[in-house]
Amino acid sequence: MQAVVPAPKISIGNLQMEPQKFYVIAGPCSIESQSQFEETALFVKEFGASILRGGIYKMRTNPNSFQGVGAEALTWISEVKNRLDMPLISEVTDPRQIAAFADYVDGYQVGSRNMYNYELLKDLGNLRKPVLLKRGFSALLDEWINAAKYITNGGNSSVLFCERGIRTFETKMRNTLDLAAVAYLKHHSTHPVIVDPSHGTGNRDLIIPMACAAVASGADGIMVEVHPQPDKALSDGFQALNFEDFKNLMLRIKPFIEASGKTLVTHV
Ligand code: PEP
Ligand code: MN
Repeated sequence: MQAVVPAPKISIGNLQMEPQKFYVIAGPCSIESQSQFEETALFVKEFGASILRGGIYKMRTNPNSFQGVGAEALTWISEVKNRLDMPLISEVTDPRQIAAFADYVDGYQVGSRNMYNYELLKDLGNLRKPVLLKRGFSALLDEWINAAKYITNGGNSSVLFCERGIRTFETKMRNTLDLAAVAYLKHHSTHPVIVDPSHGTGNRDLIIPMACAAVASGADGIMVEVHPQPDKALSDGFQALNFEDFKNLMLRIKPFIEASGKTLVTHV
C-alpha cells in the first residue's frame, strides 16, 4: 500500500491554509509606487483576495525592460501591510535578496525562470516561510516536483506549486496553461496548487474563463495580476486586470468555488 503523506501545514503570515478553502492571490505584476500598490491592495481586499502579490525585483527577458523598483518597495510594503493586515508574497530573484525580504514578505515566490536555480531553492529550504514555486516554462512535471524537493529536503515543507503555463508550439497565447498538471499534482502531491492564469494566457480576456477552469481542475487558489491603469503598467500591462475586471472575476468564479465544495477565504 502507498504510504499516505500528510498534507503540510502551511501558514502565510497569519493565514493558516486549509484543504477545503480557496485562496485568491492578487496584486500588481510590479510594485511601482506606494500609491499604486496601496490602491490595488485596498481594492482586491475589498473584493475577496486574501493574499497580496507584488514584484519588487523582476526577471525580465529583455534587460532593457523595467527591472522592478527594488529595495525602496520594502517600506511601502510594510506600510500597506500594516494598514490592511494582509499577507504578501513576492518573488526573490537571487539568494542575496532572501535576508533583505525576511521582515517584509510572508512568502517567497520562485519565478518560472528560477525553477532550476537549485542553490536558491536550497537556501529557501533552510527557511520556515512558505515558498510559491512557479513551474519553469519548459519544465516537465517530474522536474518541477524535484525542484520542490530541493526545498522540502532542507526541512521547509511549506511549498505551494504554481502552474503558470508552459511553452508549446501555440503562439496565440503567451504560454499554454496546463490544467492537467493541476489535476495530476492533486493526485500525486499533498501540497497546495495555485494557478496563475495571467502569465498562463498573457491575455486579460482569457483570465476569467481560465480562472474558472482552474477551480474545476482542483486548484486551491489562483494568482492574478491587477493594476489600477493597465495601460500605464511598467510590466505585463497587457495581461493585467483593471479593478472592474477583478470585480467580475470574483463574481464569475464564485459558483465554481461553491461547486467544487470549497469556501473562498477572504481577508482574516
Ligand atoms: C510574475 O509572477 O510576475 C512572474 C514574473 O511570473 P513568472 O515567473 O511565472 O513569469
Ligand atoms: Mn508579471
